[in-house]
Amino acid sequence: MTVTRFAPSPTGHLHVGNLRTALFNWLVARKGGGRFILRFDDTDPERSKQEYVDSIRADLDWLGLAWDREEFQSRRLDRYAEAADRLRAAGRLYEAFETPAELDLKRRKLLNMGRPPIYDRAALKLTEEEKAALRREGRRGHWRFLLDRERVEWQDGILGPVSIDAASVSDPVLIRGDGQVLYTLASVVDDMEMGITDVVRGADHVTNTATQIQIIRALGGEPPRFAHHSLLTGPEGEALSKRLGSLSIRELREAGVEPMALLSLLARLGSAKPVELFSSLDELAEGFDLADFGAAPTRFNPADLGPLTARHLASLPHDAVAGRLAAAGIPADIAPAFWQAVRENLTRFDDVADWWRLLSEGAAPLVEEKDREFVAEALALLPPPPYDAESWKKWTAAVKEKTGRKGKALFMPLRKALTGRDHGPDMAVLMPLMRRVRALEAPHADGAEADGTSAERAAGKTG
Ligand code: GLU
Repeated sequence: MTVTRFAPSPTGHLHVGNLRTALFNWLVARKGGGRFILRFDDTDPERSKQEYVDSIRADLDWLGLAWDREEFQSRRLDRYAEAADRLRAAGRLYEAFETPAELDLKRRKLLNMGRPPIYDRAALKLTEEEKAALRREGRRGHWRFLLDRERVEWQDGILGPVSIDAASVSDPVLIRGDGQVLYTLASVVDDMEMGITDVVRGADHVTNTATQIQIIRALGGEPPRFAHHSLLTGPEGEALSKRLGSLSIRELREAGVEPMALLSLLARLGSAKPVELFSSLDELAEGFDLADFGAAPTRFNPADLGPLTARHLASLPHDAVAGRLAAAGIPADIAPAFWQAVRENLTRFDDVADWWRLLSEGAAPLVEEKDREFVAEALALLPPPPYDAESWKKWTAAVKEKTGRKGKALFMPLRKALTGRDHGPDMAVLMPLMRRVRALEAPHADGAEADGTSAERAAGKTG
């Protein structure tokens, strides 16, 4: 059975970059009929916050990316200690005492000599007496994994065959001087014990994968399948990290982006297939294949989410939004017809409130000076609400006969007079939903703008 995990550190809100990782893992599990684990990589007690655990859960919930199981690394520290003991016993974990400043100096020396800044393993040569002396000085040892200096190879689900020379990598620190277990070890222990079969993560983890494969083998395990997706950049190719705030899932949600718009875009961006609007996660999973994705950095433009959101809303039947319409205060009896009328004119769902206000309270007529007389004449021919499906046709025919206007010169000023806008749903569909029509405001003495007190012309007394 396929088992995947999404392993965020709860040190910030989810953003589109890590959502992509979550989605890919979710889809791989779904396609494999398997399980998806939400694992909080929270071994850093200072930076990990409950607030972020809650917000990550809320974001995944909103997106419909349900998880089968939840894990916290902070509750598994004994497992990591046990694995560390085994590595020590196998001679693969050694204690080192260099301070960050000393390590930095070593790195700079090597770079100056034109050599790669790989840790020189000086700690391996320390005798027990020397270590004891260092401890007496107050130094606390950190623990490094002793890499086999050989090539590590794997067949990557996205990158294809990958080969990394472990001799070009420093022995990774697995446990800090203060005893904190680091991600590299915790992740490996979890992946093994939780039966993870597939790890999909960002290309920034490729080197980690090489070292983690060695650690897994040293612990007697078999590595899972790995796939590394490219990193997202902004529309100009700039690092996404610069604008993460505005690309957090919560900000996108607050901006009115619909989950399916976001998921549809992320499921295809950077792949060989064109972006398509999917109607459900199931439909999205059907066409999903990691092999379609490439290694090149992938540009993400939040502006693409607007049209996808609008198209998604336009495609939704009333049933799918009944609850949201009720929450927005749209009366249940009118909601189906209302939704049918406005759904193609929304840039975000919350626009329904504007349309509803317009229909229930009437809109201040939008009138160009040159049309003022025409509109006044036309409104005089309009009976008060309620209207039906024929009302628009009858009214415009009467206005045409009286004024001689036709085509756009007839229809547009009338639309603007009734709705206060120059665009919107078919007027024949909208009129039956109108409960009030506002009168034309008297022009100022100087002939400029209306005075703001809008008399009510007709009284459809509902609300
Ligand atoms: N917490 C790690 C990260 O967010 C997880 C990486 C992994 O998937 O192994 O980068």
